[in-house]
Amino acid sequence: MKAMKKVLCLVLAVMMLLTLAACSGNTTEDQLIMATNANFPPYEYMEGEEYAGIDIDLAEKIAEKLGKELVIENVEFGSIVTGVQSGKYDVGIAGMTVTDERKEQVNFSDSYATGVQVVIVKEGSAITDLDALGGADVMIGVQQDTTGHIYASDTVENGGYGEDHVTPFLNGADAVNALVAGSVDAVIIDQEPAKSFVAANEGLKILEAEWAVEDYAIAINKDDTQLLADINKALSELKADGTIDAIIAEYIKAE
Ligand code: GLN
Repeated sequence: MKAMKKVLCLVLAVMMLLTLAACSGNTTEDQLIMATNANFPPYEYMEGEEYAGIDIDLAEKIAEKLGKELVIENVEFGSIVTGVQSGKYDVGIAGMTVTDERKEQVNFSDSYATGVQVVIVKEGSAITDLDALGGADVMIGVQQDTTGHIYASDTVENGGYGEDHVTPFLNGADAVNALVAGSVDAVIIDQEPAKSFVAANEGLKILEAEWAVEDYAIAINKDDTQLLADINKALSELKADGTIDAIIAEYIKAE
């Protein structure tokens, strides 16, 4: 009986060791887990089965400098900040605008690009300038949880149009489809995706005036100050040696 117990103990001990080994074997230390929303060309989008875009290429370069393997998780835009905050993802890289509200939840790296919010309308639309967006019958389409959504649905006193005038969609493409179908009168969205969507759909145009000018940066968990420092170092090197400019130039052709 005693011998049996010994064997059993041994078996249990080995099993526990194996479990431990399994847990620490593929350590996430070697990975940089990036959350994005790959429906935001030219920053992130799918090319068949592959991820492509400015943020993807930039993330590859950063991961390389950090000596980590890049792992990409494609999620809804609105769950990126909370996922980084909870530690589910190491970073959020998604053409993400730095805002004071988000800064309460995550840290932001130094900015790596400027984002501009623009307005897409149908050609021949009665909406010809930004003032016309405030019209009583105007319905504005936005991508859920983006700055376009947050600012446009704010009160008129705060520079928005009020929630009743804003319809959120899960992604920018859905908002643009609604514009094409006529269920919204305008779409407020970041400039470069706007250009891609306008190029892909007949009869749309972008209003000349800029609706908002913003900084894009990488969201990082507040506790991970080492990662913040490492990423800022990588970004400054990638800026200094022209890598970031080259990546952006590859996807955004100068007009
Ligand atoms: N720049 C916008 C924001 O941060 C939209 C980003 C996105 O849709 N990927 O809210």
